[in-house]
Amino acid sequence: MARHDGRSENELRPFRITRNFIDTAKGAVLVEAGRTRVLCTCSVVSGVPAWKRNSGEGWLTAEYAMLPGSVKGRKRRETGSRDGRSVEIQRLIGRALRAVVDMRALPDITLSMDCDVIQADGGTRCASITGAMVALHDACQELARRKQLCHWPITDWAAAVSVGRLHGNEILDLDYKEDFAADVDMNVIGTASGKLIEIQGTAEGEPFPRESCHKLIDLGLDGVLRLTEIQQAAIAESATA
Ligand code: UDP
Repeated sequence: MARHDGRSENELRPFRITRNFIDTAKGAVLVEAGRTRVLCTCSVVSGVPAWKRNSGEGWLTAEYAMLPGSVKGRKRRETGSRDGRSVEIQRLIGRALRAVVDMRALPDITLSMDCDVIQADGGTRCASITGAMVALHDACQELARRKQLCHWPITDWAAAVSVGRLHGNEILDLDYKEDFAADVDMNVIGTASGKLIEIQGTAEGEPFPRESCHKLIDLGLDGVLRLTEIQQAAIAESATA
């Protein structure tokens, strides 16, 4: 099947990670998946939520928002009331990252992840998770340098990608045009070790068969693996620079 941008069915959009994009947060990553661009920052805050106090553990929380100019026609800034979609997405980002962090390594510290979509062209929640993972790594590295960690907290690399079914074909990493036309829309969040963290999958019209679901998960995990290689290459690059 020919895709409108010439990609093969299992091909990711060009994916770029720019670390230290700004210097006010401990981890600050600009992530680009094709035309989708997200700024992911990780700030270190002392203290934990009340229900985590005296637990000997730290916490990680995430916020997500799309900037007004990130979509055609302007999206209303989320001041005051939050958009339900954003709340759903930020909870997903938090769950995904907490799955690969050992909270006992950072007692009484909260890692605050912020994912702000600068330009949206599909897959913003997935790009947010993949980029936030690198920002999280960089913040932990800084904490380690300052000897504020009991041990290294990151237990695996988390990344995410969208997959979908379009005109009867399973495809990887949908852009907005494809996402809009897809019959099935799925987000696969997984790890470098090939495990799953979360799957969100929806039939946009007709219900879809289980075989298609299996194919989509395989395609997604393959994409996740490649994304974790890109994350690790980005880390290695600046480590030697
Ligand atoms: N989108 C938009 N306005 C919105 C929400 C979404 O233009 O208020 C577009 C945007 O390009 C986004 C895409 O629709 O990336 C797909 O949105 P979805 O909710 O499926 O989340 P995403 O795929 O970005 O994680």
